[in-house]
Amino acid sequence: MSHCENQGQSLPGHNHNPHHNGSASTAPEARPGLSTSGGCPSPSDKPQNPAQTNNHYTHRRAESSGDHLKAIIENVVEGIISIDDHGIIESINPAALRIFGYTSEELIGQNVKMLMPEPYRGHHDGYLHAYRQTGEARIISKGREVLGRRKNGEVFPMDLAVGEVNLPGRRLFTGIIRDISERKNSEIHVRQLARSLQEKNQELESVVYIASHDLRSPLVNIQGFSIELSHSCRRLTQLLDSSKLSEPALQNELDTILKEEIPEALEFIFAGVNKMDGLLSGFLKFSRLGRVSMDQRCLDLNSLIREVLSAMKYQIQQKSARIETGYLPECCADHLQLSQVFTNLIDNALKYSDPDRAPRISIYSEESPHENEIIVVVQDNGVGIRPEHLEKIFDVFFRLQPHEGIGEGLGLAIAKRIVHRLGGRIWVDSSVNEGSRFFLALPIQSDNG
Ligand code: ADP
Repeated sequence: MSHCENQGQSLPGHNHNPHHNGSASTAPEARPGLSTSGGCPSPSDKPQNPAQTNNHYTHRRAESSGDHLKAIIENVVEGIISIDDHGIIESINPAALRIFGYTSEELIGQNVKMLMPEPYRGHHDGYLHAYRQTGEARIISKGREVLGRRKNGEVFPMDLAVGEVNLPGRRLFTGIIRDISERKNSEIHVRQLARSLQEKNQELESVVYIASHDLRSPLVNIQGFSIELSHSCRRLTQLLDSSKLSEPALQNELDTILKEEIPEALEFIFAGVNKMDGLLSGFLKFSRLGRVSMDQRCLDLNSLIREVLSAMKYQIQQKSARIETGYLPECCADHLQLSQVFTNLIDNALKYSDPDRAPRISIYSEESPHENEIIVVVQDNGVGIRPEHLEKIFDVFFRLQPHEGIGEGLGLAIAKRIVHRLGGRIWVDSSVNEGSRFFLALPIQSDNG
């Protein structure tokens, strides 16, 4: 768009600018470069004599320079808003009107705080007042990321740079605004992708580890006892082929092979097959989790915990466990998946209780140092976990007491995977012989708002 096409447009609220024509300190100085490109003189504009010519060109230069700046302000993609030192909007350019969804009539003369969400809206008059009193600036002359509020109530992130303009007898503040919602959304998307990639990578590493260690040990057993079995079968065939079948020594040997060696080898082979079967179904269960879609919404955790405890009533009674629950704030999660997490944690608290005392389990919330998340704690007075195992217990198939035959080493890996998919975190703090505290940080709002 050429400069000439913009002549006659004006910045809302600036229609009666007393400093127009470059006569006051705030009006931009006429610069030859600007006037040549923006003046568009026509042959009929020609002045009559040299003195007139000078005046005429100075006047035209200032005028066209002002018009040039106006045209820029009108057409920049950034929103520009100027307010007085009480926060009253004096001018606003079309980009800012588009960003906030208002017309200039709705905004000029209004307090700029109407473009901010709470709690900033409530604090803004106070900031301006403090600045008038102390001159101590929080944002002036600095750029920062803040939140804006559109006419339709939508809160969005924006970059804001505020400058101060000192006019004779008063001052203005100019805010330059860029709506960064799209950039933020892509950042969130990239973060989600990175997180899921990292998770997938870790899982892949565990899968490789398990395939090479855990699956190998039952395989070695199956292989060894299959060789034993084939030896026994070969000996059996040789004995049956021999003609001395009625001799008592031969009867004894047959008895040993048929009643001891073969059943023992088969027993080990079955155990190995069962173990592999368990590991492979565990794998399947775990990998399916990644494909389950999450229905993330605001949840009342108090009722969720009540449901989980009621479903586990039998186990709780069997262990004579005492359960205490504190008030839990709302969070944003998938009901079914989060119930699974709490079920696993409470199940472990019952399983790994100290045989010398009745289990006591407390579920309560703690304040988080981070915005937009809550922390829920599941505390037990069980056997506890040694410091070197605190991280490992979240690995797939990691068990501390595999010989005792309880658990399959999946409960915490599943809990961790669900919590990460919900955008949260899980960790543990424990003292051996005293008990453990499992912490769940859960989002109050989903990543998509
Ligand atoms: P499992 O299904 O074997 O219980 P988990 O993944 O749930 O597997 O737990 C992994 C290991 O972490 C368990 O073998 C156990 O040793 C330890 N563990 C989990 N929860 C607790 C707890 N509350 N107290 C003590 N140890 C625990």
